[in-house]
Amino acid sequence: MLAEILPPPAPDLSDARAVLQRVFGHSDFRGLQGDVVAHVLAGGDGLAVLPTGGGKSMCYQIPALLRPGVGLVVSPLIALMADQVEALRAAGVNAARLDSSMDWEARQAVFSAIQSGKLDLLYVSPEGLASGVLSERLGRMPVSLIAVDEAHCVSQWGHDFRPDYRRLGALHEAFPGVPRLAVTATADARTREDIRRQLHLMQAPEFVASFDRPNLILSTRRKDGRTQARILDLVEARRGLCGIIYVTARKETEELAATMRERGLDALAFHAQMPSDQKHAHLRRFQEEDGVVMVATIAFGMGIDKPDVRYVIHADPPKSIEAYWQEVGRAGRDGLPAEGIAFYGFSDRRFMADRIEGSPAPDEVKLVQRTKLNQLYAFLDGLACRRGGVRRYFGETQVEDCGQCDVCLNPDMGHDSSQWARMALSAVIRCEESFGRGRLIAHLTGTAPDGPLETRFATRTTFGIGKSLGKTGWRRVLDQLLFDGVLAEQNLDGFPVLAIACPDLARSVLKGEMTVMTREDPGETGRGRRAQTRVALREDLDTPTQTLFTALRAWRLETARQAGVPPYVVFHDSVLRQVALHRPTGLAELMAIAGIGEAKARRYGHAILQVLARSEFTLPQ
Ligand code: ADP
Ligand code: ZN
Repeated sequence: MLAEILPPPAPDLSDARAVLQRVFGHSDFRGLQGDVVAHVLAGGDGLAVLPTGGGKSMCYQIPALLRPGVGLVVSPLIALMADQVEALRAAGVNAARLDSSMDWEARQAVFSAIQSGKLDLLYVSPEGLASGVLSERLGRMPVSLIAVDEAHCVSQWGHDFRPDYRRLGALHEAFPGVPRLAVTATADARTREDIRRQLHLMQAPEFVASFDRPNLILSTRRKDGRTQARILDLVEARRGLCGIIYVTARKETEELAATMRERGLDALAFHAQMPSDQKHAHLRRFQEEDGVVMVATIAFGMGIDKPDVRYVIHADPPKSIEAYWQEVGRAGRDGLPAEGIAFYGFSDRRFMADRIEGSPAPDEVKLVQRTKLNQLYAFLDGLACRRGGVRRYFGETQVEDCGQCDVCLNPDMGHDSSQWARMALSAVIRCEESFGRGRLIAHLTGTAPDGPLETRFATRTTFGIGKSLGKTGWRRVLDQLLFDGVLAEQNLDGFPVLAIACPDLARSVLKGEMTVMTREDPGETGRGRRAQTRVALREDLDTPTQTLFTALRAWRLETARQAGVPPYVVFHDSVLRQVALHRPTGLAELMAIAGIGEAKARRYGHAILQVLARSEFTLPQ
């Protein structure tokens, strides 16, 4: 296409800025938004990779409002399309969706709105648009652009491959000359390449923003014998805040949610096999209420765009760094501080590794999967800034430490445990690689022998040499040796036993040539229960402002209920915070707040000013 070969005309974004301000209430474009909008306005195809919360939707919504015809948006889930359409309508945009659940008349109404130029944005499912009938019909209508949201779903290298998306490759033939924009929040270089090939965007430029999410406060934690109790404590300490807990097993979603409810927490479960009415009910409650905790498998999430999710806890580790960033990225989309806490254990790693080895995938795929698994655990178990680690993984250079993650906040994280490691390795060797973890720890701590094997090895020199360290400490040391690949768990007569995985490494450790670093001091296990549950979200509003913010949120909840929409469709928390901070006294001042456009000021302005006026009498000055 000509637009790609010639340098694009100097973009004039003044119209686009005017729409941004009038409709969405934002004063200017952020990050790469302006570049992408200018490119699409000029009729160019593209691939935009912007972090979650980076404002991907503006990249196609603004051009769709400015270019003649309807903008088609391919979005993966029907339920979530509904919310997006709702949010657009609340901002005064003519938006609709088309899906298989609609009856004939409703569909005809959509088509005639397009024909008469009344519709600006139409959300469609991938399978809908890939079906010849619909694309042929729309192909004869004025289409301003096609946006493919969550475009990583097209690639098997991405983490959410959806075969339906593959068929979107035909769009360039069905809609010749219509600009196509693929957008996603997570795609490494390989996935980007694949997206462009699959969607016939090989000539199109990539717009790749920084993957940084400055408001995310990240930490990772090793699992131990009481992981579930630790998670309950974390949720308890965040009572009233909206959060997501990811677990692997479906059954566990229900059990953990039930345990939380017993504790009086507002928790719900979600997994793919749940009856669909229950799934919908839970999704709605999560979206529409303020402080629901969702205990879910990863079936929950794609396209969840509740802006005020304050934390995401991975009770089990994510599948890859891409998956992690996508999942943890669901927290804090409103830009306010939010937490990501990920638990992981050695058995999780082994499980994934076994799965890769046992899969029928071709060798080159396995090689990629193995590398990705190593990168994931280097990130989870490493001692480098977490946010920096993710950004480097996605290819960013010159990354600064975030200053907020568990590593940045604990500069002394990392403890030289070589001395304990030497004892453990000696014990493994002296006990002839025939003990599992529990028995080896009993041997090291000199606990009374209770079986023939224990008795036999009780005479060895390593018996009781580790008395000064507790069980938990020893577990940490053994875990570390497993993570470092010095030890491995092998199967002996159906039981897992600890064996030397790499004699060279073991020798280096024993000779003192190699240090073994554990995350925490194995000798210090009682510490940090408070630190563990510490809520990183600083509430920095003073009391009167906080009271006002609470009053505004109460008004929002009521308003949203009456309108039958989620509260964030009315206003995001970030907007209400600004209102509470600035206390505007009239409509003009109100509209100066980011996120309040014309339509919203008209609809809600007076009500907000009333809330402010009412509170003025009750607020301490
Ligand atoms: P994404 O889909 O990339 O996760 P959204 O499009 O949902 O992000 O936007 C995330 C948030 O950022 C929304 O609250 C949106 O209103 C806000 N936003 C988008 N663009 C801008 C902008 N230019 N200035 C200020 N806020 C913006
Ligand atoms: Zn950091």
